[in-house]
Amino acid sequence: MCDSLTKRKDCHIGSPKIIVVPWPIRVIVVPPPICASIESHITTHHPEEAGGFLDCVRRGRRLRATRHVPIVNDSATPERRFETTVDGRAPPPPRVFYHSHTSPRSVSGLTQIDERSIPETFALVVFAPHGNALSYRGFKRGLLNWQELRIEADQTAKQLPRL
Ligand SMILES: [Zn+2]
Repeated sequence: MCDSLTKRKDCHIGSPKIIVVPWPIRVIVVPPPICASIESHITTHHPEEAGGFLDCVRRGRRLRATRHVPIVNDSATPERRFETTVDGRAPPPPRVFYHSHTSPRSVSGLTQIDERSIPETFALVVFAPHGNALSYRGFKRGLLNWQELRIEADQTAKQLPRL
């Protein structure tokens, strides 16, 4: 009996439990090369809204973008909406869906339509009423509402402009 207890104990010690703490994501990091690629895509399609995905890796409370995947805007009114279908073009999670707001009358964050219709966990809105990006705002879908996340340029934790 003593032996079997010892064995059980040994076995337990031999395979330590890895404790996974579910820290919520608080920050999306968009490194300068990814930022430049997003802004080029948005400027090229201005005044139509542009969008796509950021392939990401998780680092603690941060999602760090590693690849920009632009997606064609399928909206019938592309100057007011960005619409697409999430299919094989989208990178696997963790990923961030982004789109631009190109009208000066647009809000710099999610619209009510965005909040209802974006079927993703993470969303980024780039406000670019003149074609160049003026503001970056990130959001995470919560149980009841979308919560705002900080958008940082790189690992120096500098925040990207937010309107
Ligand atoms: Zn929108």
